[in-house]
Amino acid sequence: MASIRVTMDRALSGNNQAKAAIDNALFDLAAKSMNVPLHRLFGGAVRTEFPVLRILAIKQPDEMAEQAQILFDQGYRYFKIKVHGEVDLDIARVATIRKRLGDEANLTVDANQAYSPKDAIAALNGMAEYRLDLVEQPVAIDDYKGMKLVTDSVPVTVEADESAGSIQEVAYLVEHRIVDAISLKVAKLGGLWNTLTAAQICKTGNIKYRFGAHVGSRLLNAHAMQLAAALPEVWYASEFGEFARLLDDPFEGIDVEDGVIHLPDAIGAGVQPIAR
Ligand SMILES: [Mg+2]
Repeated sequence: MASIRVTMDRALSGNNQAKAAIDNALFDLAAKSMNVPLHRLFGGAVRTEFPVLRILAIKQPDEMAEQAQILFDQGYRYFKIKVHGEVDLDIARVATIRKRLGDEANLTVDANQAYSPKDAIAALNGMAEYRLDLVEQPVAIDDYKGMKLVTDSVPVTVEADESAGSIQEVAYLVEHRIVDAISLKVAKLGGLWNTLTAAQICKTGNIKYRFGAHVGSRLLNAHAMQLAAALPEVWYASEFGEFARLLDDPFEGIDVEDGVIHLPDAIGAGVQPIAR
């Protein structure tokens, strides 16, 4: 596998998503050839259940609370509230959802770079009274000083998403303690091997990490889960359930039940193409 990875990187710079497909497939094949679940290649599973964090798309506060209630009734307890960069309206989004769902819900927000650093500080200090566990990417992707200012100024865990687009960027964020946490995404980082490397960098620098949205098929989510299962430091809920929004996923083998996905007990990644 290592020689194929080296050949890919010599032949082509960047293109992490394409490389991830090949890297993940190689791990899957290796596990199948050894007749073991894929997590065994990373040392074996330390967890078999993954609470799933679900995204609430940006709408008016009442509409978002309505959608949150539907997911809550399906068993989900972790929510990601997308926000827009309008401080008062964004605080109202968080307040309305908290009041609707009550204390049992675990709330996070994702600003997708929408704030200036000072607006982020104002918004997050306002949201904090509604108990917010995490804010994803409050400011622009390359505004490292602004991100660090937010991290140092709010009581909420600040997580890099867009800013953590490669192992090198993860290393920079960790070395300079620009954020409290990092969202790891297997496709963006170029596959399971690079994601393992990024996780080790976070661990070494005492920065939290979890697995962010793996938007796509059950196949991608199963690959990511097999690695996450073997990493003791993964904190908080990961986002392995967005395949629920796919209309025609060609793979089967994992599903969300009561807001939780269970690690499949099968060789390889634990998902199979649907026979048609
Ligand atoms: Mg994000």
